[in-house]
Amino acid sequence: MRFTRLRLNGFKSFVDPTDLVIQDGLTGVVGPNGCGKSNLLEALRWVMGENRPTAMRGDGMEDVIFAGAATRGARNFAEVVLQIDNTERLAPAGFNDADTLDITRRITRDAGSAYKLNGKDVRARDVQMLFADASTGAHSPALVRQGQISELINARPKARRRVLEEAAGISGLYQRRHEAELKLKGAEGNLTRVDDVLEQLG
Ligand code: ATP
Repeated sequence: MRFTRLRLNGFKSFVDPTDLVIQDGLTGVVGPNGCGKSNLLEALRWVMGENRPTAMRGDGMEDVIFAGAATRGARNFAEVVLQIDNTERLAPAGFNDADTLDITRRITRDAGSAYKLNGKDVRARDVQMLFADASTGAHSPALVRQGQISELINARPKARRRVLEEAAGISGLYQRRHEAELKLKGAEGNLTRVDDVLEQLG
């Protein structure tokens, strides 16, 4: 599964339809400050299912729609299409019957987001699972946003460990341990109550 193209339309500063062809090897994006380099990475994160507006440097998800400029009016929708080469059939089961996968996310003002996979409506969860099963996605540690490295360097050891745990894929175990601890606490409470009742009976 290889990303081959990112198509943006009305997303942040990319008001006109823009195609970014991702070729084999390393891709570098260069340009002056404020030209939209970070917006490209955010588009990639967004189409993979990112739902936190703060991760998109906005207050609400509609902030990803082109907001207008001196010479252009605001747009009513934003759309990002991520094209994936699946000729080696490495996509997870259920998504694996086409050579090319086109994942589309579109947001319309006052109407929210919708996703399509090769033109067919799919749920946000389906898209998130597709990327999670392929060990990537909006929260992948492979996507490093601006400022993240200095945050990591300045972070307290506990916060830094969280990042390493996420990279090692064990944060799910952490959550399960927390749930098990809560259950254990509940069971201990029940045992204390049983002891109290037994004492009263005796
Ligand atoms: P730097 O090198 O400074 O980090 P950059 O190339 O990464 O810059 P971005 O941060 O991706 O640039 O782009 C910022 C630009 O995108 C700003 O000019 C900002 O006004 C514009 N922008 C962000 N959101 C929107 C929006 N919803 N509508 C229109 N323009 C937007």
